[in-house]
Amino acid sequence: MKKGKLIIFSAPSGCGKSTIINALRERGMQFEFSVSATSRQPRGTEQDGIEYHFLTPEQFRDKIDNGEFIEYEEVYKDQFYGTLRSEVESRLNAGRNVIFDIDVKGAINVKRQYGNQAISMFIMPPSVEELSRRLHNRGTETEQQIEKRISKAQLEISYADQFDHIIVNNILEQAISETENIINNFLLCE
Ligand code: ADP
Ligand code: 5GP
Repeated sequence: MKKGKLIIFSAPSGCGKSTIINALRERGMQFEFSVSATSRQPRGTEQDGIEYHFLTPEQFRDKIDNGEFIEYEEVYKDQFYGTLRSEVESRLNAGRNVIFDIDVKGAINVKRQYGNQAISMFIMPPSVEELSRRLHNRGTETEQQIEKRISKAQLEISYADQFDHIIVNNILEQAISETENIINNFLLCE
């Protein structure tokens, strides 16, 4: 059986990653999500096992010690996020393609481990000013949280050249088509 592939997305918050991934699904692309583990608390309507596997810091540490993570990072202070081997290996072995939405360091790490079986894509905002506008328009964070995300974005953008592809999300339809073409070509390769 042909193994599945890994499609890794990373981007500063608000760059349009979720919008693009949803559009790919609407256009009929077949993939499954790797549900990450995190030690942060659930937000709003988030459910355990859907958005994340929510763990206590102790449970998270046990899984680190047992080697259950492919990668993990302290993305925010005292908040750990990690990709569980159990989320990924069985799906790949069953020939299914798996999508990852992880931070820049995690993305570079997973790509390094899986080589040609993985593709890494960085979604870039047209400018930091436009990113700020989109975060304000989305209206899901406070002003303080938006400022934190924007200052983090500058650091994240500095990792972009370590990705296989950089997609500038300026005109949404173009960004979706470009992403779709890149992934389709990648999936066709042996
Ligand atoms: P992320 O998942 O990367 O945090 P979202 O997909 O939630 O980002 O996008 C952030 C906001 O920007 C959303 O309100 C979305 O509708 C909007 N958006 C996404 N792409 C574009 C685009 N090309 N032009 C204008 N607005 C966009
Ligand atoms: P949030 O708390 O807003 O859901 O996510 C915060 C950040 O954690 C995002 O940048 C997201 O991409 C990243 N993230 C989510 N899951 C993982 C993971 O498994 N590994 C790593 N390294 N980062 C992750």
